Amino acid sequence: MKDRNHPVLYIVIPCYNEQEVLPITAPLFLRKIEDLSAAGKISPESRVLFVNDGSRDKTWDIICGLAAADPHYLGISQSRNRGHQNAVLAGLMEAKDRCDITISIDCDGQDDINAMDAMVDAYRDGCEVVYGVRSKRDTDTFFKRFTAESFYKLLNAMGAEVVFNHADYRLLSARVLKEFANFKEVNLFLRGMVPLVGFKSTAVTYERHERIAGESHYPLSKMLGLAFDGITSLSVKPIRFITGFGVLVALVSFVGVIWAIVEAAIGATVSGWASTTCIICFVSGVQLICLGVIGEYIGKIYMETKARPRYIISERTWDEEDA
Ligand code: UDP
Ligand code: MG
Repeated sequence: MKDRNHPVLYIVIPCYNEQEVLPITAPLFLRKIEDLSAAGKISPESRVLFVNDGSRDKTWDIICGLAAADPHYLGISQSRNRGHQNAVLAGLMEAKDRCDITISIDCDGQDDINAMDAMVDAYRDGCEVVYGVRSKRDTDTFFKRFTAESFYKLLNAMGAEVVFNHADYRLLSARVLKEFANFKEVNLFLRGMVPLVGFKSTAVTYERHERIAGESHYPLSKMLGLAFDGITSLSVKPIRFITGFGVLVALVSFVGVIWAIVEAAIGATVSGWASTTCIICFVSGVQLICLGVIGEYIGKIYMETKARPRYIISERTWDEEDA
């Protein structure tokens, strides 16, 4: 360890119900490690670390089989499905004391494994964080592309600092991970948290392919959930926005009140049922939305104060005493 030119690399791969794709992509990760270490860029002690995120299919059996067949494969299993972000965190935290650098990547072969060469090179040149950034999204459906790109724009507009078109394919050094371990939040949005840690960083672009097999576990509902978490866990801008909006509505109401008094004073009051109804509907709608956003933050505070563990590892493919 600690040899910047031959770092120990752990490739961290979250897996949830991936029995179709894992047997295809696992050897690709192993070959990448072998190639990189043959080229003298990383230590032969490097490993492929799978994180089983409470899969209900044969994923964990496959991981155990791989680990038994080749010592370069390691696996940990979460006690239940906790979601992609927590699975990646579990893997990173598990790896941080055993390696010099980690690269997190999905197991479905969508992210170009060959971008790892450039990531490792950037680390050898002194970077501690290397973001994998998608050059284009030709293979995504129009819908996925549109929603994903709006997601980044919305996040940035709302004050969460994220790298455009960067998902969770990135290199992090152990040094960064040790600092990262001090970020105790339960509501996780890794790609927004990494820039907060700082350190020298750069980006590597790659092309994103289609899934090799199996299907996406990020339907629209989960994407919206992630977007919401991303905004509310990183920024208080929506609350400020509400305050500003409240002031605006109050000003308009004030003008309205003066207008109503003047109208009444000159005796021009007519039965204004429609306008009254409209105003009540509008204002109560605004209030409910604002309450909802504030409630979302209070819910987050509630979850944070509980300080529940962010992941629970139930099994490992190795004996902890040996490690
Ligand atoms: N994943 C996970 N837990 C989940 C959902 C997904 O660990 O609850 C993993 C999944 O196995 C994959 C990665 O997260 O390695 C990305 O998921 P997916 O490919 O389904 O998302 P997409 O690429 O379509 O956004
Ligand atoms: Mg995918």
